[in-house]
Amino acid sequence: MPGKYEKVRTMRYRVLLINPWIYDFAAFNLWARPLGLMRVAEHLSAFDAEMSLIDCTESFGPKQYGAGKFRSEIVEKPDALKKIPRYYRRYGIGADEFTGRLRSLMPVDFIMMTSVMSYWYPGVQKAIELVRAAAGDVPVILGGIYASLYHEHAAMRSGADFVYKGHVRESLNFALYTFGFKLKRKRAALPYHRLNLYKAWPFAPVLTSTGCPCRCSYCASALLAPGYEKRPADAVIEEIGELYDQGVRDYAFYDDALLMDSENHIKPILRSIAHNRPGIRFHTPNGLHAKGIDAELADLMKASNFKTLRLSLETINDARQKATGGKVSPGDMEKAVSLLKQRGFTKNEIGVYLMCGLPGQETGEVREGISFLKSLGVRIYLNEFSPIRRTKLWEELVQKGVIPDNMDPLLTNNTVFPYLYSGHDPEDISSMKLDIKRYNENDT
Ligand code: SF4
Repeated sequence: MPGKYEKVRTMRYRVLLINPWIYDFAAFNLWARPLGLMRVAEHLSAFDAEMSLIDCTESFGPKQYGAGKFRSEIVEKPDALKKIPRYYRRYGIGADEFTGRLRSLMPVDFIMMTSVMSYWYPGVQKAIELVRAAAGDVPVILGGIYASLYHEHAAMRSGADFVYKGHVRESLNFALYTFGFKLKRKRAALPYHRLNLYKAWPFAPVLTSTGCPCRCSYCASALLAPGYEKRPADAVIEEIGELYDQGVRDYAFYDDALLMDSENHIKPILRSIAHNRPGIRFHTPNGLHAKGIDAELADLMKASNFKTLRLSLETINDARQKATGGKVSPGDMEKAVSLLKQRGFTKNEIGVYLMCGLPGQETGEVREGISFLKSLGVRIYLNEFSPIRRTKLWEELVQKGVIPDNMDPLLTNNTVFPYLYSGHDPEDISSMKLDIKRYNENDT
């Protein structure tokens, strides 16, 4: 089986993990760390491997609770984005710093690189280009969301030697075997936060489960994690406890379905933390299911010091809500917000995501949603719709001839897609955004 690298070697391997840059028109760090890459590190920790990490996005000035703006520099737009009247940026460390760190970590036997949003693929290409210049033909194995959703595109265009689809599993060892690497199991895998890949954890992302049992037509959750799997509550409690003892105070839950089966999952986790960890703060940048919030959970969230709560409404239109998955109703939202407010959560702490530009959606419907959320006294976050490949809405748009199936992933950027495809008047959208900005800035 080994081809290019002929001989199979069983030895202590030196592995470099890379999280590439973000290339976008806007980006803000909401407690993000490359959790997929951390899972790869956990997997490799069970074998005889020495790991180091370059996180190209690790360059930001924290504003509140550890979240903050990335350092960025303006870069030239690819041809496909030339029409967009905004600056295009590379977010993260400088290219020279990347090359310097790369050189200092050489030689390595192979590189594991992740990829996040598909339309950030120029960041992957840039990182691999610089790897080739500094480290020659060291094998680069690319995984992550872009690599999974756009496997062929990544195989042809990224410059990686191997493109890995889906979650890290034992099949990764098989992929490595094709390069002549035979990993030898040594021990049980270590949790990512014990691997010392980052110098410090100013905050920690936490994943208590993967996947989601719902099937919303615009969401890629089921494509990236086909089953819904919960980690044992004890393991999550232990992870938070260890990080807390190292001084971490801000935790962001990155689950798709954090509140699912709450009696057996999030409630026991929060019961063990509430009142026991002074100064701890929790954040939920992924929208929560409003349906899952009951009186006890609202109590536990308050007692565990949740500071940034995000809920998802997406649309107020009953028919569209049902057609896209029916995960929530305005009544569910009203009830959840009321429970949270009764416990003292403020407008600044509760934010709700609303979508704009769903296929067939008029701006009047979005304005109705805005009025509804204003009446609840919560912050409003407008998400402009862009389709994700292989989701139900993507297939519908392809069938109707609105988009080609082989559309450049750059055009699925949610700054770009609405501008080119929504048909909405950009001034109308700008005036809604301005209205929301003014409303959000007003504390009451
Ligand atoms: S409920 Fe949320 S995570 Fe689950 S499928 Fe719908 S949008 Fe995706």
